Amino acid sequence: MAKTAVIKESKPEVNLTRQREAILTVIRGRDDHPTANEIFRAASVSLPGISYATVYNSLRFLKEAGLVLEIQFGDSASRYDRETGRHDHAICNCCGKLVDFELPQAADLMKAAARKSKFQPASVHLTLRGICPDCLEPGAKGRT
Ligand code: ZN
Ligand code: MN
Repeated sequence: MAKTAVIKESKPEVNLTRQREAILTVIRGRDDHPTANEIFRAASVSLPGISYATVYNSLRFLKEAGLVLEIQFGDSASRYDRETGRHDHAICNCCGKLVDFELPQAADLMKAAARKSKFQPASVHLTLRGICPDCLEPGAKGRT
């Protein structure tokens, strides 16, 4: 069972219905940032007959409860993230794979961006776009 990520202490324990619980379990069991459709397919295994609308509403509930993160890249379908703490993403232009990473320098970047924009910073999120190791041919490994 996946360990619960960062649930803020100030948040009261959320009472989840069976469906919401099952959907949360699906998301926590994967590290690939599934879309609502993928979650729907996976949830149908443990809850046959569950409707897409139920999945969709549950996702909204879980997001508002701070239990999952919804992330959007351009106009492609939203992806759901079990990791709710601040972190960065790399997305593959080739296969669409989305992985987590954490850049310790992000805090400095945020300060610099705040100076440039004169905004009061609240958060920063980096998205690296490129080609993932799986999509690179084995022979191309030495090329940096
Ligand atoms: Zn790829
Ligand atoms: Mn993530």
